[in-house]
Amino acid sequence: MPPATPITVAHGDGIGPEIMAAVLEILSAAGAELDIETIEIGEQVYLRGTPSGIDDSAWESIRRTRVFLKAPITTPQGGGFKSLNVTTRVALGLYANVRPAISYHPFVQSKHPDMNLVVIRENEEDLYAGIEHRQTADVMQSLKLITRPGSERIIRFAFDYAQRNGRSKVTAFAKDNIMKLSDGLFHDVFDEVAADYPSIEAEYWIVDIGAAKLADTPEAFDVVVLPNLYGDILSDVAAQIAGSVGMAGAANVGEGAAMFEAIHGSAPRRAGQNLANPSGLLNAAVLMLVHIGQPNIASTVQNAWMRTLEDGIHTYDIYDEERSNKKVGTREFGAAVTSRLGEQPTTLTPATFGAEGAKNTSTASVSSNVTPIKQTVGVDVFFDWTGGTPSDLANLLKPTNSGELVLQMLSNRGAQVWPEALADGLLVDHWRARFTGHEVSAVSHAQIAALLTRIAETGLDFIKTENLCTFDGKPGYSLALGE
Ligand code: NAD
Repeated sequence: MPPATPITVAHGDGIGPEIMAAVLEILSAAGAELDIETIEIGEQVYLRGTPSGIDDSAWESIRRTRVFLKAPITTPQGGGFKSLNVTTRVALGLYANVRPAISYHPFVQSKHPDMNLVVIRENEEDLYAGIEHRQTADVMQSLKLITRPGSERIIRFAFDYAQRNGRSKVTAFAKDNIMKLSDGLFHDVFDEVAADYPSIEAEYWIVDIGAAKLADTPEAFDVVVLPNLYGDILSDVAAQIAGSVGMAGAANVGEGAAMFEAIHGSAPRRAGQNLANPSGLLNAAVLMLVHIGQPNIASTVQNAWMRTLEDGIHTYDIYDEERSNKKVGTREFGAAVTSRLGEQPTTLTPATFGAEGAKNTSTASVSSNVTPIKQTVGVDVFFDWTGGTPSDLANLLKPTNSGELVLQMLSNRGAQVWPEALADGLLVDHWRARFTGHEVSAVSHAQIAALLTRIAETGLDFIKTENLCTFDGKPGYSLALGE
């Protein structure tokens, strides 16, 4: 018998303890080889004054086992409490969020009977880097960061996942018709990585129409890989249209560590009443069993669970007089799954997680062999200013011109307003002034610093600068809207 795998388990808040008890009972009856360390997280830990909702000894267990099965928790109302999910994701480097969204038609009501897709969301970058600034009275800024290694790692993870799990297509969504540099990078890396997997179909959609198609025809998708924000939104859409919120599990995977959880919350109104559906957490536990190399047990559990659904034994959230035979509570549902261990579904497709599927950590080698020649050719200087028209600001800035750095353009909310106004929109207190040479030529940091010194002498309130660089001669900056 293989040695038991150490895992860390948290029973959570609200319905958490009930659904976790049901899940652990099923796993034990199925013969899962687990060495369980139990930790306390969530509401009581927050209320004891630990802002992260998890104390050091609990962390110590997670860092040791590197496999975390987590029930939902309640975040207390009021400020000052940090998201435990964000803390865990950051501390363990869990860069991939994996969420299968599958319809169990005709046994569970779904508008999309043939839906069977997996959303793979990048978990660390994009607008979620949390770099935000208030720049003026009227303007807030969030920085969107898309990196080549981060994009390559998640996209390679998605293709590897498709390959290991017998899926035939990977689709990416982004918005590179507008965000040509950031989303453009994600798209370029997708095309590059796809070329390494000729047996898997690769397709790309602009996120707006792709999202509409996903909501309308989810059966057209297989594996969908997305940058963080689009993935956050669309993984919820996919789970919602697949059926009940109580059914879906998710994995958050990093290099050598992973966290598994249901996608729903702690449903406090249902707590302590033996009502909740343990299926979401059970599906998360199945993902965990595959991850830790117990794919046969994963298949046994998944098949018994599907057989239970087929037999019409349903918790309140999926119970329907036409489809269900018996409305049961959490404990009875768990017992029904346990009593079907070893049975196969007869209508739904039986699960057969193989040894290949077990290698559920990315072996992605991230290439950084792209070393373009970088040249600084100018600077965008941003101002907090309410003193008049675009021409007034240009006149204040003109004396700061030097031979190498000359004011070329002013924009407001991205649109050019000087020397020609190419937009007739609202003007706010946030301006961008672009300084370059008359020709594209190299400028030094000293020349930029000298420009800022001259601007400081005018008394204008500059709030940030962005250097303008070319990479292998190609501009690494966008033009103003309307240019
Ligand atoms: P929720 O997911 O807990 O509940 C939404 C709705 O779905 C409710 O009607 C609930 O009764 C139902 N529901 C959820 N899970 C169910 C299940 N297993 N079986 C049957 N019905 C189920 O979302 P909420 O009410 O917005 O949040 C409640 C608490 O959960 C909040 O404190 C929130 O911060 C927390 N939360 C935690 C997590 C997590 O730990 N990962 C995720 C989301 C929300």
